[in-house]
Amino acid sequence: MFRCEAYAAPAHDKPLASLTIDRRDVTPEDVQIDILYCGVCHSDLHMARNEWGFSSYPVVPGHEIVGRVSKVGAAVTKFKEGDLVGVGCMVDSCRTCSNCQEGLEQYCEVGNIQTYGSPDKHLGGTTHGGYSKSIVVYEGFVLRISDKLDLAATAPLLCAGITTWSPLRHWKVGPGQKVGIVGLGGLGHMGVKFAHALGAHVVLFTTSASKVEDAKRLGANEVVISKNADEMAAHAQSFDFILDCVSAEHDMNAYLELLKRDGTLCLVGAPEKPMSVHAFPLLMARRRLAGSGIGGIAETQEMLDFCAEHGITSDVEVIDIKDINAAYERMLKSDVKYRFTIDMNSL
Ligand code: NAP
Ligand code: ZN
Ligand code: ZN
Repeated sequence: MFRCEAYAAPAHDKPLASLTIDRRDVTPEDVQIDILYCGVCHSDLHMARNEWGFSSYPVVPGHEIVGRVSKVGAAVTKFKEGDLVGVGCMVDSCRTCSNCQEGLEQYCEVGNIQTYGSPDKHLGGTTHGGYSKSIVVYEGFVLRISDKLDLAATAPLLCAGITTWSPLRHWKVGPGQKVGIVGLGGLGHMGVKFAHALGAHVVLFTTSASKVEDAKRLGANEVVISKNADEMAAHAQSFDFILDCVSAEHDMNAYLELLKRDGTLCLVGAPEKPMSVHAFPLLMARRRLAGSGIGGIAETQEMLDFCAEHGITSDVEVIDIKDINAAYERMLKSDVKYRFTIDMNSL
């Protein structure tokens, strides 16, 4: 065991502050990583403030981790000291259930081990995330990172990237399809980039008029201000697929109405409170309401390799760790362009 500098929420109503945590020594299958950058996901804020009701304190958030391998266990075969690597939302799973066997570890029947906030089978307590100097992870959940891309801008791919990539791939988004992305935040801006790269006609829905030009630059063919009923109505019954990346309560029915017959509205955003769904928009056109959680390890590597090949990264604002509480407040005001990434040298 060794001591490690970190930043943590001590309670749901307290700001994040520095904290020294324990990390395990590498077991034969583990990789020890010096963290260089960690993206700031809205889930970090939901968890730090116990908005989903299952946080256990202290919470050390962070699941968009990029770093360099500093040590490997004796049985590690995929990585060596000095390699650039990433860690996303999971650090382990049961590895044996049918979902894990299919490479869908995020849907592990026993429950995957989240990078932070899950039971830590090695040290007891809960796992601690990437707002820290280093992390020790089973090699099966460590990703290879290309040195071709900017590292600060690569970190958000580990959650915002895979969470939007996975549903776009699952629902086979591609040329000839009209695809909507709702909310231009961390997830949404990656959704726009990926849907565009996959060849779809992309429409971005936003509540922020100031984001229209950015959305077009990021790859949207059209932008709709979702508060404008006429603009919304102009797109009725026209979408094959809509990916909803909104972090707060909103009217899903308005988006169901925009789907074609048999179209799918997929939620990846995880608002604190339940949202109501009317039966009619679903049953009048055999539409589907679905959800999707992050992505499996193999699929995350596929997404990272696609990004390296196509030069895709996140648009980031790099911050010091001491600015994290201010960054959370800006995130709540939808004032992020389009992901904060913490430079871990500042810790
Ligand atoms: P974010 O950067 O804060 O972006 C959320 C965006 O939603 C905002 O930029 C804003 O976009 C829009 N929005 C915010 N409040 C709204 C409201 N009241 N009504 C309508 N639109 C609103 O958050 P994020 O990091 O992308 O995360 C988004 C959500 O996904 C969070 O709930 C997060 O926990 C969840 N998440 C889920 C998974 C998964 O596995 N499914 C993984 C990661 C994150 P505009 O300004 O364009 O309107
Ligand atoms: Zn996340
Ligand atoms: Zn499993």
